[in-house]
Amino acid sequence: MSTVQLLNIMENIALTSPITKNFINGSLSNGQSQTMDVFSPVDGSVLSRVVLSTKSDLDDAVHSAQRAFPSWSSLTLKERVQVFYRFRQLLEENIEELTDIVHMENGKIQSEARAEVLKGIELTEFACSLPQMINDEIQEVSKGVECRTTHVPVGVVASVTPFNFPAMVPLWTIPNAIALGNCMIVKPSEQTPISALKIAELLKEAGLPDGVLNIINGDKDIVEAICDHPLIEAVSFVGSTRVAKIVYRRATSQLKRCVALGGAKNHLIVLPDAHVDMTATNVAASMSGCAGQRCMAASALVAVGKADHIVERICEEARKIRVGENLGSVISKEARDRIEHYITEAEQQGARILVDGRNATVPGKEGGFYVGTTVIDYVRPDMKIAKEEVFGPVLSIMRTNEIDEAIQIENDSEYGNASSVFTQNGSMANYVMERVSAGMVGVNIGVPVPREPFSFGGWNESRFGVNDITGKSSIHFWTKLKKRTTKWNPEAWTNWMS
Ligand code: NAD
Repeated sequence: MSTVQLLNIMENIALTSPITKNFINGSLSNGQSQTMDVFSPVDGSVLSRVVLSTKSDLDDAVHSAQRAFPSWSSLTLKERVQVFYRFRQLLEENIEELTDIVHMENGKIQSEARAEVLKGIELTEFACSLPQMINDEIQEVSKGVECRTTHVPVGVVASVTPFNFPAMVPLWTIPNAIALGNCMIVKPSEQTPISALKIAELLKEAGLPDGVLNIINGDKDIVEAICDHPLIEAVSFVGSTRVAKIVYRRATSQLKRCVALGGAKNHLIVLPDAHVDMTATNVAASMSGCAGQRCMAASALVAVGKADHIVERICEEARKIRVGENLGSVISKEARDRIEHYITEAEQQGARILVDGRNATVPGKEGGFYVGTTVIDYVRPDMKIAKEEVFGPVLSIMRTNEIDEAIQIENDSEYGNASSVFTQNGSMANYVMERVSAGMVGVNIGVPVPREPFSFGGWNESRFGVNDITGKSSIHFWTKLKKRTTKWNPEAWTNWMS
């Protein structure tokens, strides 16, 4: 699809336009703001101009959420989720359009963009199931005295999201937070702001009252303003570790609850008995899916013992993945340059480039930002490429003869999002899974992402805060517990706690 075609789609979306505006109190708003260009990484063209909101725009959004809160939060959970049943249906009906928007603004290929929207549908289904999941507790704790818990919404809450899943990550937070009774401010990535606006439009169509969801666009200044705003009670963040730390520190210093998910450096540990074909296809898919711009992507492979035959098969699979066909673009020129710099530096330091994705172009889309799949062997653990998040379709292979050394390499990483082991031996798989320091671990799977109702979240520098961001764990983040103790029986005993 061309930029012009996407702009035509955007003209047809009642609430979007070539200017990606804010969505406050149920309507589009230009705010008092300047704009910046949004580029399509597919071909480098300008897709839209996004509003850079001011503090006063944020104030408008927060006050609209605050006004909506009393009536929205007073509905029962069962009443609130009705909106999400209708929203789920609308996501299905609009899947082609949302897929095109995600593809054009993020650069991932159409099938990946579609999978992202399908995952959004699954997240919405989880929110619809919340009334079945939340059973408040009640117990007679002493004669005639009852204790009961209820989940109460937190109030006005915020969600700050990254570029790499412009539809899915907003849907990690919007359905659960809102179904649980909160009113919300979402700040999408300024690089990919259009999908979130489409989601807001569909939620309005599904019957969400004005003010319950507000989209505020902008860059770091508006994120800082969100962290500081006295009426925002909770902030969820997904993005790089550098910014996750800034946001976590700033939001919690203002005494808000905060969960901040950061970057990743995911290690796959491949044992000599691994099933060769299965390992090769899984590893290649994991390192290249969404052009390596997934926080669950395989980035480092630690091969234990004799592994040449497996490495060769991985290279064979990696060569089948071609830019513009089954491999999309990376997000920007800066991202492409950064990724290529990592590769060149590793080469200069003595690593061997087995598959080289540098200088990739797609005929007819020369302005796009592409990096081909890259496999680098004999990377040493002390190299920058072994330690830092590359966030591109690049696999660094390290060699070792000892399983404990492989585990140590994984443990030494500052991150701790995901890790997987490839083997046909169950006890070795358990040995590795118990010892790797990551929140999401797998066996014989390249992307060990938990699916609903299991929650998503890493460890170490991949997540700051206590709760995971999705699934059952998110219920604790988006609600506070009220504990009620009642005694209606006048004859009930009086005791020390009366
Ligand atoms: P980013 O940290 O640059 O930006 C994320 C958000 O923070 C954006 O909305 C941006 O406007 C805002 N922001 C940027 N700089 C800021 C600053 N100095 N102060 C306050 N706010 C700021 O991340 P990105 O490049 O959009 O996304 C890619 C990163 O996100 C990768 O590191 C990836 O691993 C990570 N990610 C992690 C997960 C996870 O679950 N752990 C999921 C998706 C993406």
